[in-house]
Amino acid sequence: MRLLRRTGQGVSKGLLITNVRLVDGHSDFRGDLYIEDGLISAVGRGLRIPDADVLPGGGRTLLPAFVDLHAHFRDPGYPEKEDIESGSAAAVHGGYTAVAVMANTNPVCDRPEIATYMQEKAARAGLIELYPLGTITRGIAGEELSNMDGLAPHIWAFSDDGRGVERPNVALLAFRRAAALGRPIAEHSEYRGIDDPALAEEVMVNRDLLLARRTGCALHVEHVSSVGSVELISAAKRDGVPVTCEVTPHHLCLEPGYIVNPPLVPREVRERLLAALASGVIDAVATDHAPHTAADKEKGAPGISGIETAFPLLHSRLVRTGQLDLQSLVRAMAARPARILGLNKGSLEPGRDGDVVLIEEDEEFTVTEDWLLSRGKNTPLIGQRLRGRVWATVRRGQVVHLDGKTFGRDFDDHRSIV
Ligand SMILES: [Zn+2]
Repeated sequence: MRLLRRTGQGVSKGLLITNVRLVDGHSDFRGDLYIEDGLISAVGRGLRIPDADVLPGGGRTLLPAFVDLHAHFRDPGYPEKEDIESGSAAAVHGGYTAVAVMANTNPVCDRPEIATYMQEKAARAGLIELYPLGTITRGIAGEELSNMDGLAPHIWAFSDDGRGVERPNVALLAFRRAAALGRPIAEHSEYRGIDDPALAEEVMVNRDLLLARRTGCALHVEHVSSVGSVELISAAKRDGVPVTCEVTPHHLCLEPGYIVNPPLVPREVRERLLAALASGVIDAVATDHAPHTAADKEKGAPGISGIETAFPLLHSRLVRTGQLDLQSLVRAMAARPARILGLNKGSLEPGRDGDVVLIEEDEEFTVTEDWLLSRGKNTPLIGQRLRGRVWATVRRGQVVHLDGKTFGRDFDDHRSIV
């Protein structure tokens, strides 16, 4: 099936996407978008570009591609759960072109060679840009600092995700070192000794905000799940403390029941988290994509394989029900995480990276195990009907996913589908 066509006879200059509704954080209109040399070059109505590949948008909605601050690709170490190829395919299927991956692999990413292995493998797969995190402590044991100086040039932040750094003096040393290296600390805020989950989170958020305030180190709070944390972060932001934070799609949308860390929360808490996301106190949606085998999940492994369902879930449950407007969701999934990672992505202005997605807003589809490209089929959404499927994903002007098929290096480039 020919999905792209070519205008003129010359060598293609770029990709023209026609007849779409273009939505980003500050605009919403119908028209076309043209990407040349990997960058958005023009937006407008009735664009005419000689010698361009044309992707007819068919009236679909075009958004900036999503940026994920928090995913587990399980590579190196757990290919039965996921690896960088399958994780990359799942990411572009979900509309993500840039993904920050956590360090709790095997071996853990506590030295530069592991980070470069991840990035080289992602580059070979050719689908996404991958941004590793490095561990705060050696072996994620919480005892002594990792090779933070060696890791710093290869990573965007330090995190022991899966565990919080419990020892106060280890945390203090880490914040000081990270501040000197100009990298954030991304904290999995949970004191395991406290069996009230909200309080276990708030105690660590409170300590870390104090450490950020005293050391000047940027703090990123992962998967915020309590109203108390939101209040602490909001007050710290008003005081100018360098703090950002994220919330997951499942903490915004799903009823308690499925096993996740931190645990899913009741409706009143979800409503407060949503209000904080809409107001910008919570900066970003991050998936915490956590693929597991069926056997591991049965044994109680926490987490949801969620990078492919993030947008459809949020669109179906929050945007279509009028609780969140589409532009706010785009800011939370694209513009703000891109700013946190320091990327030239997240909006449709000319000059930004040519990373966009085309969404089918109205057609219903069913989430099935086969539909998921991730090896992790662990999601409570199997069998559910959602709207907001990502039909196409474009990275720097290359179609990397179209209608459930991915086009990475192995598939030559997107011209193989011309
Ligand atoms: Zn975590």
